[in-house]
Amino acid sequence: MGIGQNESLWLKGLLRKYYASHLVNPPYDVSKREFGFGNIKKIDARHVGFDDVQEMNQYLRNNTPLYFSGSISEYALPAAQPMEKKQWLGSDLIYEFDADDLQTDCKQVHDSWKCPHCGAQGKGHLLKCTTCGKGVELDEWTCDVCLHATKEKTKQLIRILQDDFQFTGLSVNFSGSKGYHVHVRQKEIFSLPKHARIELMDYLSMHELDWPSLGFVFDGKQYRCPPFVHAKGNAQRVLQEILRMIEAGTEEEWFRLTGMPMRALKTFLENRQRMYNELQHGTLPAVPGKSAKTELFWTGILHSIHEQLRLPIDRSTSGDIYKLLRVPDTVHGSTGFLAKSLDLADWEQFDPFSDAIAFAAEKERKIFVHETPRIRVGQEVIEPLHEQELVASAPVAAFLVGWGAAEIR
Ligand SMILES: [Zn+2]
Ligand SMILES: [Zn+2]
Repeated sequence: MGIGQNESLWLKGLLRKYYASHLVNPPYDVSKREFGFGNIKKIDARHVGFDDVQEMNQYLRNNTPLYFSGSISEYALPAAQPMEKKQWLGSDLIYEFDADDLQTDCKQVHDSWKCPHCGAQGKGHLLKCTTCGKGVELDEWTCDVCLHATKEKTKQLIRILQDDFQFTGLSVNFSGSKGYHVHVRQKEIFSLPKHARIELMDYLSMHELDWPSLGFVFDGKQYRCPPFVHAKGNAQRVLQEILRMIEAGTEEEWFRLTGMPMRALKTFLENRQRMYNELQHGTLPAVPGKSAKTELFWTGILHSIHEQLRLPIDRSTSGDIYKLLRVPDTVHGSTGFLAKSLDLADWEQFDPFSDAIAFAAEKERKIFVHETPRIRVGQEVIEPLHEQELVASAPVAAFLVGWGAAEIR
């Protein structure tokens, strides 16, 4: 959704004020990074270089781009063109999590779709028209629920990076809009080639998990699993989840996962201690009846656990060393929120809708709202509006205008 010229100018005025009194200090050597900026698209131009942080801030104050991104790679000559002339030195590892990639129930409330082919429309997040089957236009929003779910997935990734790889150079920032960015910045990974980055990504996201190679295999009679004490990484995470189910999973939960009739389930779950022991020693407990039943039963459970544990990281960009990513602590023009750097020790409490607000609330602005679901910005709650005028604080107005849902009056 593009925004109008007046809207863009007004937002840039707010940005000018912000950058005049805040110094942006990225967590990397600015002189080795390539930068890109955008006012219409997220990136209208790239191949920009700065000698130092001061020069970069000067640029932000003078040009106030609505979107400002920096390279995940370092170069000897970051502003040179074409890419090959920049002389690549190395790249951070970057993982992006977006609320769009998670299926949360709140989308039924705040997202809507419209079919440009037949005119049908409705609530929720879907890709194909329910009437004619063609592609639809989505009106996507975020809320506490989906951003919290995104944060949980981000935390899951951070744990794996720390536990399985002992990475220490981790930092995380809010994207300024729909999710979180995780950066790994340390010399061991800096020169990893593209294929290694994709391989790592596949491990982290559990892409096309190969069960036999993890030690989960049906041998014709029994379903084998790796003994718990020897299991590592993804195999260990899967086993932990099965153990949790055996220890504490309710009959309803088992039923949802397996569809096994309740009566049979009750019998199956009668001796949880025995199941627990079998699992510790490398066997998934057999289901009464033919052995094929056991195979089907556990294959189904493994499939569900995979769905639950896999991380929705965008695979297509993971090997892209030329990627530009929003510079931490700059303002995101679609929301008026900061791509705020977060402290890994206490980002549990971070509330994007309050803690990332860039603009002071005192100033008010009259806007005309086309369409908005219920939103919260800071302490302010706006109930759903449709083609209505509203006098709003700067943070609320910037959010609705930047999102393309309102015009200034
Ligand atoms: Zn349609
Ligand atoms: Zn939501």
